[in-house]
Amino acid sequence: MSQVLSSSAADALRNSIQGEVITPEDAAYDDARKVWNGTVDRRPAVIARCLSDQDVVAAIAFARKHDLPIAVRGGGHSLPGYSVCDGGLVIDLSALRKVQVDPATQRAKAQGGALWSDFDAATHAHGLATPGGAISHTGIGGLTLGGGMGWLSRRHGLTCDNLLGASVVTADGRVLRASADENPDLYWGLRGGGGNFGVVTEFEYALHPIALVNLSLTMFAQDDGRSVLEAFATWSPDAPESTGAILLFMNAPPAPFVPEQLHFAPVWALAAVSSAPTPDEAAAASEPVRRAATPVFEMATPMPYPAVQSMLDEGAPHGSLIYQKAEWVPELSAGAIDALVASAAAKPSPMAQIHVWNLGGAVARVADDATPFGNRGTQHMVDIQGLWPEPGLEEATRAWTRTTFDALTPFGSGAYVNFISEDDPERTKRDVYGEARYRRLSELKRQYDPANVFRLNQNIEPA
Ligand SMILES: Cc1cc2nc3c(=O)[nH]c(=O)nc-3n(C[C@H](O)[C@H](O)[C@H](O)COP(=O)(O)OP(=O)(O)OC[C@H]3O[C@@H](n4cnc5c(N)ncnc54)[C@H](O)[C@@H]3O)c2cc1C
Repeated sequence: MSQVLSSSAADALRNSIQGEVITPEDAAYDDARKVWNGTVDRRPAVIARCLSDQDVVAAIAFARKHDLPIAVRGGGHSLPGYSVCDGGLVIDLSALRKVQVDPATQRAKAQGGALWSDFDAATHAHGLATPGGAISHTGIGGLTLGGGMGWLSRRHGLTCDNLLGASVVTADGRVLRASADENPDLYWGLRGGGGNFGVVTEFEYALHPIALVNLSLTMFAQDDGRSVLEAFATWSPDAPESTGAILLFMNAPPAPFVPEQLHFAPVWALAAVSSAPTPDEAAAASEPVRRAATPVFEMATPMPYPAVQSMLDEGAPHGSLIYQKAEWVPELSAGAIDALVASAAAKPSPMAQIHVWNLGGAVARVADDATPFGNRGTQHMVDIQGLWPEPGLEEATRAWTRTTFDALTPFGSGAYVNFISEDDPERTKRDVYGEARYRRLSELKRQYDPANVFRLNQNIEPA
């Protein structure tokens, strides 16, 4: 659907909000409608770049009056591109990026459009951090509302587990505070229920003393994949909680620190980020995997936490062409390892990657009904990133992504809401939340958004 607003309607919106209002006639329009996923090309009728709660209230009222669908944009990294729509109104929070840190209470308040780079820079200035995503230009908004897994999660939980409170503009224009003491039902829903309940203009997080971390990066030849996966499977459940790890299958980047003969070579790479007190303890923590085969490259170094948070940014540039699927896998059994090894051998695009996350630890210790986030006890998240560099490889890469996913699902236990592809919407109810949590979310949706105004997301239907 493509809808054009009359200029008088657009002017009325301009008069009712402080922030910029962008329509297709404006020079800024094409940039403003771009999202991270370069395969998404949608043309909203209007984009409201809000500057305050009141702007958000006015933008929602405007969209409802004109019967426009609403997309809410935080960092713009939704893989299916939910933060932009055809013919509707985009509530763009990208001008709301302030982060305030209170080192005395170890808390931070961040505006709803902040990116992890904003957040990590502000908290690092005080030697503090909270678990966030592994690419620094991702938004805190979508990532927190869906759960949020990162390098610190085994030690300090998901991002949503560190959410202490939020300011939310609801579909009927109320500005509510959600926390353990105020609107606790809404607070529950925000910790994994996605953007279903309103526009969050401020998030408040608990922080932890984290300044320097130890990174170790170990690459193995593709042929050693099976041994490395087996060692990773054995090591993962009891790995020290101070170590966050992802085992990646990818082509080695042409980075200056990688030997030239390895540039673009397919490798299995263990990236381990440790907040153990000393480099020796950090090295010992991942040793069983690092010694599973003879590495073709290895490095270990202490790094400021924000540097680790941005070290993978270059591999995930804005405009990336991607089709992604993912599955929780409780155990890397022989069958799951066979599937991964076979998939690695069949990878059609030099850019496509497989990421095997090790979770558990603090993530698994949170009670199942304490938040909507499902599959907490599951050890591994396998993220299949079908990235392609040019259109000629699209079809084969999409097919490879699906084949890999199909081969893994017999060993899987469900989905992570932020990693569901656009063609699998039924996974939200069935594989992310399950019956009981979905019913509770659905009740909450009826209470806070009975008309399903916020439906451009992994949607929860009002009961
Ligand atoms: C390059 C890349 C790396 C990633 N790495 C990780 C990772 O390490 N760990 C992880 O857990 N996930 C990761 N993800 C997935 C990520 O969590 C989701 O894509 C997330 O939705 C991105 O949030 P955003 O604010 O940037 O996205 P947006 O596209 O802006 O929003 C995503 C969804 O959240 C809603 N939303 C966003 N902000 C708000 C708000 N303030 N109020 C209400 N609703 C809002 C939107 O309406 C939309 O439905 C990654 C994604 C990408 C593309």
